[in-house]
Amino acid sequence: MRAVDVIRKKRDGQRLTSQELGYFIEGATKKTWETYQVSAMLMAIVWRGLDDDETAELTAHMVRSGTVLDWTGIPGPMVDKHSAGGVGDKTTLVLVPLAAASGCKIPKMSGRGLAHTGGTLDKLEAIPGYRITLTPEEFRHAVRDVGCAIIGQTANLAPADKILYHLRDVTATVESIPLIAGSIMSKKLAEGIGGVVLDVKCGHGAFMKTLEDARQLARTMVNIGKHHQVRTVALLTDMDQPLGYAIGNSLEVIEAIETLQGKGPRDLEQLSVRLAAWLVVLSGQTNDIHAAEAKVRDALTSGRGMAKLREMVANQGGDVAVIDDVTRFKTAAHRHAVKAPKAGYVTAVHAEQLGRAAMLLGAGREKLEDVIDHSVGLVMQKKLGDRVAAGDTLVELHYNHVHHVIDASDLVLQAYTFGESVQTLRSLILETVA
Ligand code: URA
Repeated sequence: MRAVDVIRKKRDGQRLTSQELGYFIEGATKKTWETYQVSAMLMAIVWRGLDDDETAELTAHMVRSGTVLDWTGIPGPMVDKHSAGGVGDKTTLVLVPLAAASGCKIPKMSGRGLAHTGGTLDKLEAIPGYRITLTPEEFRHAVRDVGCAIIGQTANLAPADKILYHLRDVTATVESIPLIAGSIMSKKLAEGIGGVVLDVKCGHGAFMKTLEDARQLARTMVNIGKHHQVRTVALLTDMDQPLGYAIGNSLEVIEAIETLQGKGPRDLEQLSVRLAAWLVVLSGQTNDIHAAEAKVRDALTSGRGMAKLREMVANQGGDVAVIDDVTRFKTAAHRHAVKAPKAGYVTAVHAEQLGRAAMLLGAGREKLEDVIDHSVGLVMQKKLGDRVAAGDTLVELHYNHVHHVIDASDLVLQAYTFGESVQTLRSLILETVA
């Protein structure tokens, strides 16, 4: 087999066999294909696409490029959730403890934030001492004894994805549903789980801007799951505005803790509870999503979810004093209120612009090696549908260095659109694909 023939075949719109896809993935991982050949192949896939079987085969080869975690000996099945990312999305911090407190086992591997989106690992590192790296034995014991652990992705977790993702980023080949689906699912399947719930965000702040694209990505991922006998459900959820009010690492952890204490924002609580309920279903405890949701709500109201977060943080070396008393989180030195220029109803909030504003203040990074400031960020005071008088605070900026405050304020002002009347808001959970 020659790389050039496989590339040509896809370029001409033909189906690739599992063997050919395996040859491509092995070539990329073991560097037996030149980088320009891998890039050409990616571009051929972007243009010609992959059908469901090809996508599932591609994913299987990506999974096999590394090791698959083995949970033999721990009663399971293991379950996990993946979110396509978004602004202010701290659901993982709420739903993982809730699901673990409801009897699920969750070996979660998370990523860092890049550009305008936040990452769970960065948020967790706002907790002093929290270790995002555990040895394989520690990870196993955490899942067995606590029921959940959240760590960083290990080098051997679908290494083909790391190589391809890096190349896709610099060759304009990120935007392909089969490639995105394969990338996400290869990492989940390599965790050795029996079920996964996917939160596919849709809207201005998300990868998928339209419902149709979000639906197609969801269906493709659900098909990959079926092909691998992993129970997979996808929720299409609204990302036309950030989830909750806080954007920025410590601020988001605080909001997640408040949600576990039953005093968080409604949208964050609603989505976290629903996602956790799906984990209860996928772990085989019940087939009834309403019964599962009642179970998760009980974990929330009884405080067992909160206690589970505390237990997980303690188990990973984090300082539980900040969990018990959120005023102990390191806070930014200054606040600046960005005020509404005119009266009206908030008719649009551009989540991506708010994410960029937080990043300018130091909450995010442009490049993976950039150092972030956990204490800075934004707290929204007005969300979609709210009535605003001229001069009302829209967003409070939390900052340490003054130099980006003007630019961040401008971004916030650009993010908000005002109208004369209230608009009907679409539901947070738009569809369920199973
Ligand atoms: N997230 C991933 O992990 N991979 C993609 O290709 C896109 C989003």
